[in-house]
Amino acid sequence: MDFLSIIEDRREGRAHSAADLTFLAQGAALGTIPDYQLSAWLMAEYLKPLSREETAWLTQAMAETGERLDLTGLPHPWVDKHSTGGVGDKTTLVVLPILAACGLTLVKMSGRGLGITGGTVDKLLSVPGFRMDLTPEEMKAQASRIGLALTGQSPNLAPADKALYALRDATATTESIPLIASSILSKKLAGGCEFLSLDVKCGSGAFMKTEARARELADWLTKIGERCGLKVHAMVTDMDQPLGATVGNAIEVIEAIHVVAGRGAGAPTLRFRELCLDLCAETLHFVGRTESVQAARVECESVLANGAARQKMGEWFAAQGADLRVLDDPEALLPLGPETTRVVAPHSGMLERVDAGEVGRVVVDLGGGRKKKEDVIDRGVGVRVHHVVGDRVERGEALLTVHARTPEGAASAAKSLESAVAVMPH
Ligand code: URA
Repeated sequence: MDFLSIIEDRREGRAHSAADLTFLAQGAALGTIPDYQLSAWLMAEYLKPLSREETAWLTQAMAETGERLDLTGLPHPWVDKHSTGGVGDKTTLVVLPILAACGLTLVKMSGRGLGITGGTVDKLLSVPGFRMDLTPEEMKAQASRIGLALTGQSPNLAPADKALYALRDATATTESIPLIASSILSKKLAGGCEFLSLDVKCGSGAFMKTEARARELADWLTKIGERCGLKVHAMVTDMDQPLGATVGNAIEVIEAIHVVAGRGAGAPTLRFRELCLDLCAETLHFVGRTESVQAARVECESVLANGAARQKMGEWFAAQGADLRVLDDPEALLPLGPETTRVVAPHSGMLERVDAGEVGRVVVDLGGGRKKKEDVIDRGVGVRVHHVVGDRVERGEALLTVHARTPEGAASAAKSLESAVAVMPH
């Protein structure tokens, strides 16, 4: 087969066959199609997007370029959850133990953070001892014992995505919805789940800035997933303000541990807890465990209240080598940046805006995220968010607290954050 004619077909908007897309996926994974030709195809695709049928073929073909996890033998249902990424988005840390405590089997691979959206791998690696390099055999054995296992993305699963993603990043083609859908779903297919619960984020701190684009992506992910044999449930949720009271790595783990232990308080943390419970209830109902979402919600609330989710988090952290003292006293085990500074309300009124995108960029600038793949991150830096949009605040009250490594870092972060918040006087 000749890749030049596949590029020409895309340029002219002529349909590809399944065989064309298999050739492309294999060529990307094996490195037999040169990057300049793949890049030309990616740009042609951006301008003349793939149809849904073609996207499903590409997804299947990408999933078949590497190993596939076989979860046979584990109790059903096999569930994975995925967020398209946001600022302060630590939902995996809370959702996994709740759903496992409700009896579902969760086997999940998570990415590292890139850009303003943090990654679960980076967050959990803040915990002393936490292993994020489980082998497929270890994942299966752990999930069989305790109902959940989470590891970093294996390069052996859907290697075509790794190659295509790197080129998309370098050719301004990341935003194509068919390419996003095939990228996410090929990895999920290779990961072996039956059910996929998706949280598609929308707003200034997300990939998708408008609700219309987020809904379109959610619809594509659901329909393409179904064509590939997955049962997909998608929610579109707000990412205009940061999620919860923390943005960073260690600082987010601390908040998640408190929520699972039933200790979280304050409006931002309660908003985060609500979202986790919504995601859990929708998922539990979607996999057929309850008659209604309301009944699922009651069950999820009860595993939080009776300590079963906390117990499951302990089993999970123990299985992956974490220092378990972190569950009782996370602040002692997860030191934050020592230099703090506050952004305060310039006058009394109603908090109108906390810009998630700006808070995310400040955390990256502090060293809490990567600008390039190879950057080493500082897990102790971050931002604490004291209020949610709509709260009444008084002049001089802290809206945000920065945890930085140096006094200069703290001062410069606070300066940038002044424009991220707005208070409507009244
Ligand atoms: N996450 C992915 O894995 N791929 C994309 O293209 C976007 C988000």
